[in-house]
Formats: sequence, structure tokens, C-alpha cells
Amino acid sequence: MIKENLELVRQNIKNACEKAGRRPDEVTLIAVSKTKPVSMIKEAYSAGSREFGENKVQEIMDKYPQLPSDIHWHMIGHLQRNKVKYIIDKATLIHSVDSLRLAEEISSQAEKKQVTANILIEINIAHEESKFGISREEAIQLVKNIAKLPHISVKGLMTIAPFVTNPEDNRKYFRQIRELSVDIAKENIDNVTMSILSMGMTGDYMVAIEEGATMVRVGTGIFGERNTQGD
Ligand SMILES: *Cc1c(COP(=O)(O)O)cnc(C)c1O
Repeated sequence: MIKENLELVRQNIKNACEKAGRRPDEVTLIAVSKTKPVSMIKEAYSAGSREFGENKVQEIMDKYPQLPSDIHWHMIGHLQRNKVKYIIDKATLIHSVDSLRLAEEISSQAEKKQVTANILIEINIAHEESKFGISREEAIQLVKNIAKLPHISVKGLMTIAPFVTNPEDNRKYFRQIRELSVDIAKENIDNVTMSILSMGMTGDYMVAIEEGATMVRVGTGIFGERNTQGD
């Protein structure tokens, strides 16, 4: 089932790219495996997935040693400062940075492990109370401040769009994220690229791709519904 789901998602990505005049290799599919067992991740791995997304530090720590080392783990959930040390050398990209204090901790833990941490800035594009992330207005200043930290590299932006039944309703938000990334790129800040836009989930990844997503995070569409609360 997972293999078939993956094939379908990959085909949808191709179609969305074609519609938008983009190359499919511009879009990375992250299989969001939160709450799902190692056996299911192995199935996706066998079907070719190497990028997996988790939203809890504990889950990355549990799964990491049980799975092949060529997997790239993406930290996509809210990250507490006191847990940064556990994943700093395990996560290939931290998608959810929304404060200078968190970035400072990431930089200092990265220094201890002699690595450079790749991060995205999480934008709460629809100003939803229930979500983490900063506003568009705060983004440039935060990026400038984070850019000064030695062991961190800002690679782009991430957003979790509102839960909607019609994905078209989120098109404006994806467009705003892309526009914001262009504005930030224009500032030519040292240590900062805006090469990654992580946006789009099961319900809306095709629209996100049409609006410029370079990473889509798909959970339900690959692994099926989550029966425990995974968010
Ligand atoms: C759970 C989650 C996803 C995947 O959501 P689906 O709707 O199951 O595709 C993507 N991004 C984040 C940050 C998540 O927490």
C-alpha cells in the first residue's frame, strides 16, 4: 500500500511540476512518518524514500538507530531548546526555527559537534493562534540576527498552511511565502540562501508546488491516517 501511495504522490508531484513549468527534480518529497512504526518506514525506504520527517525529538531518537544511515531526517515540529542537543547531529534540516533564542542554542550545540546546522525559518503565514512561527513582518529582522551566528546556515522558509478542504484556499499563502523569500534573498545577507521553500502537505502539496515549493511534507497521503494525535 505504501509503495502504491508513494507512486501516486510522485506522479502528482510530476503533474504539478509540469503544470507549473518546473522540473520534478526541483521538488523534494519528505515522507512524514510521525507516529508510524519503523516497519512502515522500511517499506517506504524500500520504495525509494530517503527523506523522512518527524515532529518529535524523542521519535527521531528512537527511530534513528533502527534504520539505515543514508536516511535524511527532517525535524519539522516545534523544537524546545533543551532538546536541541539530542538531534543536532541527526537532523539534516531543522524546518521549524522561529526565534533567535532557539537559533542560538542550535548554533551552540552545532559548535560542540563541529557541524553546521541547516535551518529554515517557520512563518505563521495566516497568523493562526494555534501555530508556531513568526509573522512575515518579523522575518527579515530575525533572519539577519540568525545569520550572524557561526554554526548555522539559513536555507529558506517553511510554513504550515491552514487546514482547509479546498487547497485553492491556501494558494495565496504559498504565494506570500514565495514573495517573502524573494524579498529576503534581495537583502543579500551573508550565510543566507532562500533555496528551500518547505510548504504543502497531503491536502495541498500540488498547489504549493505550483506556487514554488521545493520541499513538500506528505504524511497521510503516504502512510495513511494517523490514529494517535501526531501534531
Ligand atoms: C504532520 C505534518 C505534516 C504531514 O501532514 P499530512 O497532512 O499528514 O500530510 C507536514 N508538516 C508538518 C509540520 C506536520 O506536523
